[in-house]
Amino acid sequence: MSNRIPKEVDIVVAGGGAAGIVVASRLAKADPTLLILILEHGPDVRENPQVVNPALFITNLLPGSKTATFYTAEPSEHLNGRRAIVAAGGCPGGGGSINFLAYVRPQEIDFDDWEVEGWSGKEMIPFFKKFENFQDPDPEIDPSIHGYGGELSVSQGSNVQEGPQQDFFKACETLGIGRVADIADFKTSNGVGKWHQFVDKNDGIRQNTPHGFLYPILDANNTGLQVATEVKVGRILFEEDTNRANGVEYFTERSSKPQVVYARKQVILTAVFNAGFLSNPADVEQMLYGYKLQRDIARRLSHYRGPLETSHPKFPPGSKASYDYVDGLSAEKGSPVPIEYTPEDDDAIRDYIRQSVETTWHSMSTCAMKKRELGGVVDERLNVYGVERLKVADLSICPQNVAANTYSTALAIGEKAATLVAEDLGITL
Ligand SMILES: Cc1cc2nc3c(=O)[nH]c(=O)nc-3n(C[C@H](O)[C@H](O)[C@H](O)COP(=O)(O)OP(=O)(O)OC[C@H]3O[C@@H](n4cnc5c(N)ncnc54)[C@H](O)[C@@H]3O)c2cc1C
Repeated sequence: MSNRIPKEVDIVVAGGGAAGIVVASRLAKADPTLLILILEHGPDVRENPQVVNPALFITNLLPGSKTATFYTAEPSEHLNGRRAIVAAGGCPGGGGSINFLAYVRPQEIDFDDWEVEGWSGKEMIPFFKKFENFQDPDPEIDPSIHGYGGELSVSQGSNVQEGPQQDFFKACETLGIGRVADIADFKTSNGVGKWHQFVDKNDGIRQNTPHGFLYPILDANNTGLQVATEVKVGRILFEEDTNRANGVEYFTERSSKPQVVYARKQVILTAVFNAGFLSNPADVEQMLYGYKLQRDIARRLSHYRGPLETSHPKFPPGSKASYDYVDGLSAEKGSPVPIEYTPEDDDAIRDYIRQSVETTWHSMSTCAMKKRELGGVVDERLNVYGVERLKVADLSICPQNVAANTYSTALAIGEKAATLVAEDLGITL
């Protein structure tokens, strides 16, 4: 890490998060003569126990955390007037340095649904394999769909709780949700399986992009990659009288005066954000379904002893969906009875969702990669419409959601972005 920020480089990467570090690192290795500068808002996290020790993950979200950024949205009618507060990664590695380490891959068809040239499921799979070092030797798992030489290890960790795992599989089975050998095979949905994590099975350490990619490159000191932390990028600069991006303006802790760094070849934004929860009514309906399904699974677990009332909807008086009624009848019959939800019960659940929904930290799509006339911001090569030499390369480019937690998708976007920039610059990755 350096506090000396040059005046001019070849490429400026604004934001050193999950995707940003992948892009910068791949390019630096491919062409060590390229001068690449990552500007990252948060503080360095090398060997920071709060980051590398998975058991401490939740401490990153405590008030006053230096590794997270808490964005507060305007009050929203869709949230019964509440303000959404969204925590995001605020240090090198971004969300990948503070997240809950869950390794979840989307389905191949999620990408096919994007309908963007070059981004189909088949074309994206190699990018998911590239960063991965899969450490589960289970013979039931098809090794051809995992990566084994990448920078980030994936394993079951060292603390598998077989009992609760089997109990959960059994409860799901009774609802027709079968167990599968590998839920991360890019195809299977509506199944349950072993939960892998971004943890190395040998040393139990979190797998994030600064430790996996960045620090080894900086330590080798044989590329033109530099990183400056505690630097906030304010805006993009353009050459006078042109639409060509040629640098960024940034702020440091030490000076309130904006400073400038110029980019001869490319500016890459990897740090874009916006909230917008439940503004689409369809989202509430999916959560309604999800609430009912989770309740049904919970009732079938062997250790189920009833709900914590304060964290559930308030059903109308006399409702047959109420916990007292359903659990009482189930106890009498000796097994979980089906639940009858009236339209009023559904409304109670909807209201509960609007009143209590919080982020699951998978924000995306604020700079969607789709046609400009459909509201898109970047094209299929991640170029921002209407300007030159400016790309966006993080989760904000997703034109639609993926059916998965989003870390692995952000990493794959970083990998894909690196190939696009390399092609533009005539570099072989
Ligand atoms: C608490 C939490 C738990 C999560 N749990 C999981 C999980 O278990 N499994 C999973 O798959 N996903 C999980 N995620 C989601 C996943 O980590 C993110 O989707 C992913 O990190 C997004 O990658 P990104 O590169 O798009 O952005 P980020 O990783 O967020 O990177 C953006 C970077 O830009 C920096 N930045 C922002 N603004 C500026 C600025 N103005 N100037 C300079 N730098 C700036 C930020 O500090 C950050 O480092 C979780 C996320 C969080 C926050």
